[in-house]
Amino acid sequence: MSTRPPEAAAADGALPAERHIALAERHSAHNYRPLPVVIAEGEGAWVTDVAGRRYLDGLAGYSATNFGHRNPELLAAAHAQLERITLTSRAFHHDRFAPFVTALAGLVGKDRVLPVNTGAEAVETGIKVARKWGYEVKGVPEGRAVIVVAAGNFHGRTTTIVSFSTDPEAYRGFGPPTPGFRVVPYGDAEALAAAIDADTVAVLLEPVQGEAGVIVPPPDYLPRVRDLCTRHNVLFVADEVQSGLGRTGTVRACEHSGVDADVYLFGKALGGGILPVAAAVADAEVLDVIRPGQHGSTFGGNALACAVGTAVVKLLREGPYLDRVRALAPLLRARVEELVGRGAVAARSIGLWAGVDVDPALAGGRELCERLLERGVLVKETHGSTVRFSPPLVVTEEELDWALDQFAAVLAELRARR
Ligand code: PLP
Repeated sequence: MSTRPPEAAAADGALPAERHIALAERHSAHNYRPLPVVIAEGEGAWVTDVAGRRYLDGLAGYSATNFGHRNPELLAAAHAQLERITLTSRAFHHDRFAPFVTALAGLVGKDRVLPVNTGAEAVETGIKVARKWGYEVKGVPEGRAVIVVAAGNFHGRTTTIVSFSTDPEAYRGFGPPTPGFRVVPYGDAEALAAAIDADTVAVLLEPVQGEAGVIVPPPDYLPRVRDLCTRHNVLFVADEVQSGLGRTGTVRACEHSGVDADVYLFGKALGGGILPVAAAVADAEVLDVIRPGQHGSTFGGNALACAVGTAVVKLLREGPYLDRVRALAPLLRARVEELVGRGAVAARSIGLWAGVDVDPALAGGRELCERLLERGVLVKETHGSTVRFSPPLVVTEEELDWALDQFAAVLAELRARR
């Protein structure tokens, strides 16, 4: 028997999974309920647990590891930067900043980038920019700005952002809510039109609602949103934190609708799964409402983040990822649609991103995920019995097929036990 204290063994990971889980349960806040797997390593689309068992990663860190675990080009950029400097703060210029903002602005086709860390911070940036633009440019009376948002949204966890969530789990107990938001049904352009008035400064939407279950709006929705925003002098703020940077086969999911938003919010994959990197991207006439001292973050735009973010932009421009997603998307679509009537009641997909609504009478989302885990596929329910599948974009056709075989087999098992 080992005589080492559990803290020492926990620190270097040399514990069996059950001990890790018990210690985490005892010493961490219970704000997550992870599946019972303790991951120790990752490579490409696969992760390995502490017992050496491999799993196909069907979540990809909610799209933060779009380019695969330990992507060699991203690791090289990070390693090289670790040898130089990691953080200066924005009090000084550093030599990784200009290349990053130039590359990201160019990729998105806008003038300016405001780098922050997490997705929620990017959304907060979008809200602040929209309000300030509303007061200074549109001429809305101070304190009256309204941002129209969609039911079913997920934009993060800050107190302001959960104020306009429609999920009681997200907002209940965290009030009082921040005022200034109006919620309309997602995908309903008429309702949006009715909600816009003289005090409306922005419409904030996910082009595809990820956490709601990969909800793809009707094809004419985003063009109509764009048109309404233009006609009423309202900013269209697209939260591409989960939908952007390759997940749907494009840099921006808005591209599928031929639409250009006024402000884009990116996060997750921008940090290559290595560190949090997020940004708001817009033209000068919008982003220039923020002046020195009015918004920022100690870590936003740090040298390591910029080095990795620049490498991410390079991968999106030169790498095979967007083409791969487009090539594999029809297979994923066909395979999830096949599940409907075989245990699933509905399935949606765009690019390498699918939401499958399993018949709740068969199993809850948690049980589905546990059964898939047993078969070597890691996924997570979004809510209820809806499972999201969003593997790293390096997944192969065979791996994708195999993962969907496991999904079909789990549904067959569940139907057999009825
Ligand atoms: N926006 C969208 C669309 C998201 O999906 C998420 C996270 O899932 C966020 C914002 C918040 O990002 P973060 O968790 O990095 O704060």
